[in-house]
Amino acid sequence: MKLENITIDELRNTSRQTITKLKNAGINTYWDLLNYFPFRYENYSLVSPIGQTQLGEKVTVKGQVVSAKNIFTKSGLKMQEVVISDGKDKLTLSWFNQIYLIKLFRPGNFVSTAGTIRIFSKKKILAVEEYEFINNINDLTVNTGRIIPIYSESLKISAKTLRSKMLKVLNELTPTSIPEIFPPEVITYNDLIGRTEAYQNIHFPETLEIAEKARRRLAFEELFSIQLKARKLKEQSRKEKLQYVFKLDSKKEKLINQFIANLPFELTNAQKLVIDEIKADLTKTYAMNRFLQGDVGSGKTVVAAIAAYIVYLNGCQTLFMAPTEILAMQHYQTISLMFKKFNLKIGLKTASNKLNDEKYDIVIGTHALLTKNFKMNKIGLVIIDEQHRFGVNQREELAKKGLNPHLLSMTATPIPRTVALTLYANLDMSVVDEMPIGRQPIRTFFVPNDKRTSGYQWIKDRINKEKAQVYVICPLIEESEIETMKSIKAASQEFENLKKIFSEFKVGLIHGKLKSKEKEKILNNFKNGTINILVSTSVVEVGIDVPAATIMIIEGAERFGLAQLHQLRGRVGRGSKQSYCFLFTENLDGSIIKRLNFFSKTNNGLGLAEYDMRRRGPGELFGQKQHGYRDLKLASYSDLKLITQTKNAVDYIIKLP
Ligand code: ADP
Ligand code: MG
Repeated sequence: MKLENITIDELRNTSRQTITKLKNAGINTYWDLLNYFPFRYENYSLVSPIGQTQLGEKVTVKGQVVSAKNIFTKSGLKMQEVVISDGKDKLTLSWFNQIYLIKLFRPGNFVSTAGTIRIFSKKKILAVEEYEFINNINDLTVNTGRIIPIYSESLKISAKTLRSKMLKVLNELTPTSIPEIFPPEVITYNDLIGRTEAYQNIHFPETLEIAEKARRRLAFEELFSIQLKARKLKEQSRKEKLQYVFKLDSKKEKLINQFIANLPFELTNAQKLVIDEIKADLTKTYAMNRFLQGDVGSGKTVVAAIAAYIVYLNGCQTLFMAPTEILAMQHYQTISLMFKKFNLKIGLKTASNKLNDEKYDIVIGTHALLTKNFKMNKIGLVIIDEQHRFGVNQREELAKKGLNPHLLSMTATPIPRTVALTLYANLDMSVVDEMPIGRQPIRTFFVPNDKRTSGYQWIKDRINKEKAQVYVICPLIEESEIETMKSIKAASQEFENLKKIFSEFKVGLIHGKLKSKEKEKILNNFKNGTINILVSTSVVEVGIDVPAATIMIIEGAERFGLAQLHQLRGRVGRGSKQSYCFLFTENLDGSIIKRLNFFSKTNNGLGLAEYDMRRRGPGELFGQKQHGYRDLKLASYSDLKLITQTKNAVDYIIKLP
């Protein structure tokens, strides 16, 4: 029988409670259980006679219980001491604060126990980490006398119980229970161990070397299936015919060139290249699925606008989504301005601004656009700005509504190539890897608390002398993508505080909970220079473009991931003037200083992403849950070699008849 079809109710001698806990964690079958992997091992494979144990050694000893007692020391400690004998020598097993244990150790019982040999009160003892009772000194052990798996405690099932269930399922395996999924040549070529062997050894390895081989084999499988799924999605989407197929004849090309010539700047080469890629995509018979990366300030918006223009020239509509209402408003202004001399109708849809969508060529709004019913009749293109804030399933969400438009997602968060190859194999990637000319690198400083006052003084001088405009970003209060009441409160307090410190200037406050009209007013006042200092929560800032602003203060900088800090910093340095970023922190922990110093010296997003990736994994890279990365169980996004090998395996297998 297939392991997927054996439910965990079949586990004998298992309490209802345990079964329920397993099911609550999504472990419903034997197969699910085997796919619950340990995250590390403890090596208790050294089994030693008591007489030969060494100080400091991690060891398993076996023997019969001689005596067991609780000891209450003067300092209030509760110690448990169990003396065992292996026939030749005696040893004291010791625990702290586990009074109930003594009852379990009856004189004469056989026990196998593992831990570290230490000296306590001038006596050699075993500081116990694991123990189990056995019937006979030569009995097989599960929790001692071998390398034991350590599972996450999130299931709230005791380690002993989990190990025994796992072993039970493994012992019931037959050679055909876990069929091999790779052809023999792929196994040999990639030096993989067999599938059944891998499952046995990921849980109960004989040696740490074979445990690593098991991990590698199963990590290979994990990366392989993610990529295969993405590739199949891609193939499938290419077969789905588009509702509206676009054309670009010379007349339309001419109009596009006129639009470009009308821009207040020359496009960078990187922008031109991406526009060519998008033009090619938009004239195919299947839907574009392009993922556009470009560092903050590299000019992605104008690329998106040109795509929307092509769609307009073909008589269709574009939906442009931003993660926040503030950013949607800004895009509305920018894009309206770009199309001022052209005949497009551009609409802004906000919480308070209901539109009759059918009348517009481009409708700009937040993500709520997707969940609400659109009334647009000819959606040719959906643009998702700051995609990392939305997750990766927009295509599926659109499909649920029966839509299959062209899709352009944009992000400033650099995705290391390795990750792009696996996770986004179903997308086509473009990179705007060049900044508009005349930009100066932002100078970043790390400001400890005792320099705060002089920092403020320096900023006052800049405002007085050169009308500098300043952002102040309040610390991240909770690990949350959504702006919480707590973070709004913190921003409001900071606002009151700064109004006193900068009493001679105009200080503004912006956050997501303000009324739409209010947000618009504040944003416009900052844009036109009426507001000198804009205080903001950490989540509304994304994508805002006020080229005149040149100073950024980030409070509680250590709480942000580097990619997020980079996003924040990218609000300045958008014009030709020298810009500055100050990282304020009260935490002077060594590793934090190191990380922030690295950030101060590094102006390129990809470098930062890779730094964070190496140290903290992709989840941390974004400092947020909704980063669009899925959690890998065994593989690592930084294992470039394995990713390449799995990619080649997918290429090979997909071509097999
Ligand atoms: P992002 O890629 O972060 O979304 P934006 O599209 O907001 O960047 O562009 C940042 C700023 O750069 C805007 O003020 C925009 O007008 C300007 N910009 C875009 N492209 C160019 C260019 N080729 N030359 C000069 N300025 C540009
Ligand atoms: Mg942007």
